[in-house]
Amino acid sequence: MRTQPYLDYHATTPVDPRAVAAMMPYFSERFGNAASRTHGAGRDAQAAVERARDQIARLIGASREQLVFTSGATESNNLAIQGTAFARRRRGTHIVTLVTEHRSVLDTCAALEPHGFRVTRLPVRSDGLVDLATLEAALDDDSVLVSVMAANNEIGVLQPIAAIGEMVRRRGIVFHCDASQAVGKIPVDVTAWGVDLMSFTAHKMYGPKGIGTLYVRSGEVEPLPLIHGGGHERGLRSGTLNVPAIVGFGEAAAISQQELAAESVRLTALRDRLLAGLSAGVSDLRVNGSLSHRLPINLNVSVRGVDGDSLAPALDSIGVSTGSACSSGTSEPSHVLRALGVPDDLARASIRFGLGRWTTAGDIDGAIAHVTMVVTRLRELEAQLQAPRRC
Ligand SMILES: *Cc1c(COP(=O)(O)O)cnc(C)c1O
Repeated sequence: MRTQPYLDYHATTPVDPRAVAAMMPYFSERFGNAASRTHGAGRDAQAAVERARDQIARLIGASREQLVFTSGATESNNLAIQGTAFARRRRGTHIVTLVTEHRSVLDTCAALEPHGFRVTRLPVRSDGLVDLATLEAALDDDSVLVSVMAANNEIGVLQPIAAIGEMVRRRGIVFHCDASQAVGKIPVDVTAWGVDLMSFTAHKMYGPKGIGTLYVRSGEVEPLPLIHGGGHERGLRSGTLNVPAIVGFGEAAAISQQELAAESVRLTALRDRLLAGLSAGVSDLRVNGSLSHRLPINLNVSVRGVDGDSLAPALDSIGVSTGSACSSGTSEPSHVLRALGVPDDLARASIRFGLGRWTTAGDIDGAIAHVTMVVTRLRELEAQLQAPRRC
């Protein structure tokens, strides 16, 4: 199915061939506009959309009328945060989130500040988890929205969403969760989690890019729309629906629901094999973030005594993401690793592994051997450079 090694399933995933097959007819023979109710082609497309909505809703314990289709989690986060802030601004203007959130949450919150909103960005503990007492202390009478992600996209740590949901909703504050890395990977239930709004995206769970959704608990927490027009999606997001992508998203959700339990056991074992192999081969390895509260597919480590800028190109061939300036295209080390208190040199010399549906034991053993070889070589080079010069 793929030719190059790939261990970056947090960045995106290939579309499952079964989802591709389900999508195909909706590009051509079954091309109708799901909003055209006056003829068979439109009704056929609408039926396909509603079937997909059911499949996706079932995966998170929701019902289909609670899902709003968007272009992805970035848009869902914008709709949830901006839409709620403006819907509630007469009640209060305080928003609470975490320093380790995805940029699409942090930047959306920052964009609200010039409009009179106040944003509290809570720190996390050195294991990456938010302290519940710290969160509780941050809430005040002016708080209208709390946004906390379920699973972190860099270090894979799982926040205590159900406990946060209980605490936040008891105060009548809207609770939004970015669950982009969690849905399809761990069991998610919107009722047990107590979320009012939840974002996720198809391309992180073996569906196509450019389609996502916002779960909106019915009733009192409707956000104001950002995109106006034909009144699609109950007026919350206008624009002709991307029917083939929605069908692929639905199929991907149905497959995930069926395979989640077995896949998570298989990938946890592979991830643990990866950690054991790396620990044996590379001395002084630092694991970033809690190991016990973590996605099965994630491992994030830092290696001491190695320059991050040399590490990144040397690891190119195994398809991982690294924390160095070169590979991520920014000069700043990861804001997530910084929040954990990881020193900048170690944050740059970090490696994020994201395992997925097509990862094999052979891929893992290959990655262990390659990383061990690269780190040993780079450390030797470093030692030579630092050795006192003899004349
Ligand atoms: C990928 C990701 C997003 C953005 O999703 P898009 O569909 O690419 O816009 C948002 N939040 C998290 C946690 C992600 O991992």
